[in-house]
Amino acid sequence: MDFSLQRDTPEISAFRKEVRDWLAENMRGSEHLRWSGIWSTRENDEEYKFRRQLATKLGKRGWLFPTYPVKYGGAGLSLDHQFVLETEIDRYGLPLGSVFYTLARLVAPAVLKFGTEEQKMELLPPMMRGELAVWQVLTEPQGGSDVANCQTKAIRDGDYYVVNGQKVMVGHHLPPDFLWTIVCTNPAGKRHENLGWLYIPANLPGVTIQHMQLMMGIKNAVFFDNVRVPAKYLVGGENNGWKVANSYLELEHGGGGSVAENPLFKRLIEHCQKTEFDGESLMEDQDVRDEIADLLIDLDVQRLMGLRNFWHRYVRDPHPYGGAQFIYYQRMVRLRNSERVQRILGYDALVPDGSVHEVADFEYTVRSGPGWLHGGGTLDTDRLIIARRLGLGRPSQETAPTTV
Ligand SMILES: Cc1cc2nc3c(=O)[nH]c(=O)nc-3n(C[C@H](O)[C@H](O)[C@H](O)COP(=O)(O)OP(=O)(O)OC[C@H]3O[C@@H](n4cnc5c(N)ncnc54)[C@H](O)[C@@H]3O)c2cc1C
Repeated sequence: MDFSLQRDTPEISAFRKEVRDWLAENMRGSEHLRWSGIWSTRENDEEYKFRRQLATKLGKRGWLFPTYPVKYGGAGLSLDHQFVLETEIDRYGLPLGSVFYTLARLVAPAVLKFGTEEQKMELLPPMMRGELAVWQVLTEPQGGSDVANCQTKAIRDGDYYVVNGQKVMVGHHLPPDFLWTIVCTNPAGKRHENLGWLYIPANLPGVTIQHMQLMMGIKNAVFFDNVRVPAKYLVGGENNGWKVANSYLELEHGGGGSVAENPLFKRLIEHCQKTEFDGESLMEDQDVRDEIADLLIDLDVQRLMGLRNFWHRYVRDPHPYGGAQFIYYQRMVRLRNSERVQRILGYDALVPDGSVHEVADFEYTVRSGPGWLHGGGTLDTDRLIIARRLGLGRPSQETAPTTV
């Protein structure tokens, strides 16, 4: 398979130069920032402020969502342009999809695919401009993997849905503007035919957000107490939420692909080269070198799966099980890398020493490895999806949903 996505026409080469020059100018002053794990910066941190400003500047040019139509705030560009943007910004170690701490990058495709023209015109432009923090609000206390078993009710009352219920383990410590929420619109309806998606302004009366202090950082419980949500914010139609869920979750589970390189490898090499133990740099130690080689192999395989999925998404040819395979592999790699970093750094890997940037990231790598087995589904649900898409153990085989 040819993994090279770039077709270097004169137009694309010129665009690459434009992007490279623009980034050189606009990334200036960020050299000392480290683009840390998404739960480690605070609203008043220098890094956070830089990322928000950068998102706004990219958004103004349509470059946060390069292939989206100009009328919704995108740049109307081709996949080749998007690939240039993603790879050029990745040279700074910052993936385009997470410049700003928002899940709009997952929500916008669902709105584009399932929203009405009126919804697209209202909801997409501020997301494209990088102005909104959107949380995905799916998991409930009685069982997150089983999204279809949603108990949060949204009952139509004139021009509103009245929402009551509770979600857990959602968002992070930075406040949201909108909550992208799966709800039950027909409690008496059949499973999979009783759901809807609401785009809920987070400041509506009756919405309460409570931090949950977890090993990986802050997540939240969100309570809905008779929250009156304008009916115009129901995306995908009444009781049609399962269809939206299929496409949306495919993206969440890695079906969108990724071109980013994980910076962990380079950071670890640098750290091991300059850190001495018993008069030798860590890099001289054969065991350390073996650990790093294994880590590199894993990250490279993961990157190639990401590239493959990226390609499948943009040629509109959904890979039958590529998304679930990617996230399954990524979870296992995160776990293995957390153990490798622990073995290489010993006690140092357990200390969140903010004064040494890369060590802070290593500590997060170690702490979050086990936790990522359980975010956006679990290993078991990944395996279930792969099995169903392959038709294993079932009379019929499920097909992968298309994403935008
Ligand atoms: C770091 C992190 C970030 C998160 N961010 C968000 C977020 O932003 N928004 C959000 O809505 N949620 C979020 N979550 C929640 C996450 O999506 C859920 O925790 C996850 O879907 C699992 O749900 P659960 O915790 O209820 O476990 P359960 O679904 O109760 O699963 C418990 C165990 O049973 C297994 N299991 C479940 N179903 C099956 C089955 N059918 N067959 C075999 N085994 C099964 C699971 O693998 C697991 O081992 C986050 C979680 C983490 C850890």
